[in-house]
Amino acid sequence: MFVGHYSVAFAVKSEQNKIPLWVLFVAVQLLDFVWAPFVLLGIEKVRMVPGITATNSLDLYYMPYTHSLAGALFWSGLAALVYKVASGTKASRAAALIVAFAVFSHWILDLIVHRPDLAIYDDTLKVGFGLWNDRGLEFGLEIAILVGGILLYLKRNNSVARKAGIVAFGAVLILIQAGNTFVSRPVSSDRAFAITALIFYTLFAAIAFLLERQRKL
Ligand SMILES: [Zn+2]
Repeated sequence: MFVGHYSVAFAVKSEQNKIPLWVLFVAVQLLDFVWAPFVLLGIEKVRMVPGITATNSLDLYYMPYTHSLAGALFWSGLAALVYKVASGTKASRAAALIVAFAVFSHWILDLIVHRPDLAIYDDTLKVGFGLWNDRGLEFGLEIAILVGGILLYLKRNNSVARKAGIVAFGAVLILIQAGNTFVSRPVSSDRAFAITALIFYTLFAAIAFLLERQRKL
């Protein structure tokens, strides 16, 4: 799962909870934001095995801290706590819970597409429904939920002046996903993959920040 994760960020943002979209963009990818440096440091492991799924070469054989169910619950709780503390009295308990849900949604969506490489706890009892083995269906799911999320966002955030910007951003995300799914490239190294993921996730969160900031001008 790649851009589909952002469907949740768009869907849960409302004028009531006032959670900045960029915070939700970080939240829905938080597990990968932690995963990438963990891979670079050798704490978690991935190797490239061409053909391991129809969509990518990722053999994610060791990621107990970020992508186990127990790990995902831990990071979800931590994120809610950090959000509550960082936003002070302004943030409602409901908003902090929404941030936790956004973080946890990453694991649920990964569960649908990953091979059985997601542990329940530590490195044991691995689950994953393997939708990555069906390129078209996986792509369709990512795009369908992303579009659904964006439509909800546009409906629930009326005062956002930059609606065209959000729609254009959505189109760019779809194009990037299409390239990611259908354009074959040489297999990258585990480190290059982790760094690329970090760059894209950071860039997307920055764009989300800029798009929402515009409305105050
Ligand atoms: Zn992930």
